[in-house]
Amino acid sequence: MPSVDVELVKQRNPIERVIASHGVKLQQRGERFVGCCPFHDEQHPSLVVYPSTRSFFCFGCKASGDVIDFVRRKEKVGFRRALELLGEAAPASVSTNGAKRGPARSESPLTVDDRLILAAACDLYHEALLRNERALRHLESRGIGMAVVEECWLGYSDGQALKPFLRRHRFSLRRAAEMGLLRKAGNEALAERVVIPELRGGQCAWMVGRALNERRLKYLGLSLPKPILGYERVQGHRRIFVTEGAFDYLTGVNWNLPICALLGTHVRAELLRFLERVPEVVLVFDNDDEGQHAARELAESLGARARILSLPDGVKDLGELGASEDGRERFLRLVAELGTAGKETPHAPAS
Ligand SMILES: [Zn+2]
Repeated sequence: MPSVDVELVKQRNPIERVIASHGVKLQQRGERFVGCCPFHDEQHPSLVVYPSTRSFFCFGCKASGDVIDFVRRKEKVGFRRALELLGEAAPASVSTNGAKRGPARSESPLTVDDRLILAAACDLYHEALLRNERALRHLESRGIGMAVVEECWLGYSDGQALKPFLRRHRFSLRRAAEMGLLRKAGNEALAERVVIPELRGGQCAWMVGRALNERRLKYLGLSLPKPILGYERVQGHRRIFVTEGAFDYLTGVNWNLPICALLGTHVRAELLRFLERVPEVVLVFDNDDEGQHAARELAESLGARARILSLPDGVKDLGELGASEDGRERFLRLVAELGTAGKETPHAPAS
């Protein structure tokens, strides 16, 4: 299996939250949490959870370890499966229908060379964007300024730089084509597109290009497993926003929201597993039939924790709202009107 950055996994999965999500009632005592140990029979809490060192220890049965150890032991599974349960394995695909979690499909992991190719493309595209007035102006017209360009490491493919670079450094052009960076003929697939990378642990794991020329296919992603865009950005928040498109996501980043994007209306297992641990989820889907239908389905599977934020009439998506001058104020007003999840009377069951 590919090497796993255990420290990063621990960082992304706060141990106290994971343990609580496994049914252990935790009470805060200063910087620690205590609860009844799930690994031995007890009435008085002797399990202590230490968020500062991301570890747990039971003074009764001496069970101890980190968040992965906890899941392995609690679910009686191996390392790999524990990572899957934490939502850390390669993304698998499921439909929102009935929110089935389904068996996680194991994806072929990225090799070291794949990662280097992605990193090189990401850097080249970022530098190219900083030199490209037209692309920067396009972003600005959509409300996306330099702060977001830097934070999200946005790029632009001028169609010239990648292939010579790969050649010079003896990377496989065929592999670059398989990954979706080059076309079979060898020219760059994302040419003349603004490129939005998905960063994981500071490294590019995937990217999608948005055409500047409206006549072309609007979005083109790499032929690697499609991730949740902004997955790391929403980790550790009590309330998160989930949207559809890459520019909706950038608008949310610009407004400093904990936001991620599905890159479509399809909800993948990676996100569902994560959403199970989030107290409040605000769905900001497109103002069309497909978007609203997907939002209702996802909201239904999430129950009282979900809120659907309806965009104003005539605004087709969050990105469009972001391009309007008072977009942020209008959006925040809509958020305020939503109230807090979990306080509403649940719908009466159908008889
Ligand atoms: Zn114990």
